[in-house]
Amino acid sequence: MAVRCPRVVADRDVERELRAVGRRLAHALPSPARRSIAALDDKAMDLASRDAELKAALFRFVDVVPACRSLEDLARHLTGFLGELTTAPPPVAVAMKMGNTRAGRAALGAAAAAGVRHMAHRFIVGKDPEAALGTLGDLWRDGVASSVDLLGEATVTQTEGRRYAARCAEALDTMAAASARWPARPALERDPWGPLPRANLSVKVSALTPLMRPLAPERGKRDAAERLRELLRRAHARGAHLHIDMESLDSRDAVAELVLELLSEEEFRAGPSAGLVLQAYLRDSPQTLDTILAWASGDGARRAQPITVRLVKGAYWDHEIVEARQHGWPAPVFEVKADCDRNFEALTRRLVDARGSVRVAIASHNLRSVAHAIAYNRLTGGDDLGVELQVLRGLGDPLQAAIAAQGLRVRTYCPVGDLVAGMAYLVRRLLENTSNESFLSEQAQGVPLEELLAPPGGGEAGPAEKTPDNVTARQ
Ligand SMILES: Cc1cc2nc3c(=O)[nH]c(=O)nc-3n(C[C@H](O)[C@H](O)[C@H](O)COP(=O)(O)OP(=O)(O)OC[C@H]3O[C@@H](n4cnc5c(N)ncnc54)[C@H](O)[C@@H]3O)c2cc1C
Repeated sequence: MAVRCPRVVADRDVERELRAVGRRLAHALPSPARRSIAALDDKAMDLASRDAELKAALFRFVDVVPACRSLEDLARHLTGFLGELTTAPPPVAVAMKMGNTRAGRAALGAAAAAGVRHMAHRFIVGKDPEAALGTLGDLWRDGVASSVDLLGEATVTQTEGRRYAARCAEALDTMAAASARWPARPALERDPWGPLPRANLSVKVSALTPLMRPLAPERGKRDAAERLRELLRRAHARGAHLHIDMESLDSRDAVAELVLELLSEEEFRAGPSAGLVLQAYLRDSPQTLDTILAWASGDGARRAQPITVRLVKGAYWDHEIVEARQHGWPAPVFEVKADCDRNFEALTRRLVDARGSVRVAIASHNLRSVAHAIAYNRLTGGDDLGVELQVLRGLGDPLQAAIAAQGLRVRTYCPVGDLVAGMAYLVRRLLENTSNESFLSEQAQGVPLEELLAPPGGGEAGPAEKTPDNVTARQ
């Protein structure tokens, strides 16, 4: 593959262009999102963002979720944890008062279960891939591609690993068959480097093997490799894309090596289309990108399709901070949000400069991060369809609509699974996005657009930074 010299663009030009892009996107947001708080109108989100104790109760709730047998059971635990709050916010206090009588408890249990179910439906598209097909098809018709994620927390036995792999294989079959009947959507099906699969599955290595441990990574890699090879074969046979998610740092190197090693195998030269994830909150992510780009222009260049790199900030910030603190290690993640955002932009530029040897996917709900990628790509001579924008179902819905309305390619990450399996995912999303410095939370609080589009750390004084000292509990 020919090595392209990146075009040099001035920062001020990028700033000017990204503001223009950001304003256009903001203008195209469906109206509820423009009515600030209405975008995150769930009471729970609003309450949790203001109450550290409530947040901690929710974290403890996540821990008991796998032991719950039903949504009603789940609701009982939730109300139990909320009952431990010393200063419960008014709606929680009212709920606890109801819990004093038998009739009140019954009503409360039902309401909590209904509330949980309602909230979960916002983030989870169906109990299995078959049930999700209606939503996936509707998204496609609206100009939005998808990636399906089969929910379930970390695998602890080989049987669970095999079962997860079988569910993934089935999902590939189901999605490939159904998506063949979808209407043509040129912006979603082709980029400057060739055709893009309609069916797209995201998988987690920790769900494929119970053996992925930081102290014996080779064993975990060997165990996962067999199941991942099978899935790559299946994806290739069905013309689908397989994306490998990134989890906490203790498995990062093993997962990245595993993906690059498998994709280097002769058998996978012709396909499938595949990808991995780069987490910008990690201080050493520029070195990880060095490795990926070196691979992409070496072994990767012999493959029929470039590898897709999904750039994210990272979903395990609290976990990484607490883990490091427990061991007395320096934090592997940035501790100041603006540093993470600046790194995200630096990595975006390097990925865009390498477009063609990699396919670039920018996964963020942050209007500035997204507008920056679009602007930098344009100013360096890139085709708009050479950068894919990705969002999470339930959190990025307004942005997804705005991106699609601009004729850009957007993909929504759609978790699939039963609601009990989905609870940990649900609460993580809730907690992450109620952090008082999360972009969505700032947007919901009505921070002016020009401030939201300002350079990281360079705008007006924003809300207090989240520091390791006010982390509430482990993720
Ligand atoms: C399609 C899609 C797929 C994803 N897949 C993965 C995945 O495989 N693995 C994964 O880990 N995540 C994944 N994520 C989640 C992602 O990492 C982010 O957590 C989430 O999107 C929020 O980032 P943002 O840019 O939308 O919002 P922003 O509000 O701009 O950023 C929030 C993020 O900033 C970081 N942060 C928060 N506080 C601080 C601080 N004090 N110092 C430094 N950094 C801080 C955290 O990473 C936090 O999630 C995915 C997201 C999407 C949209």
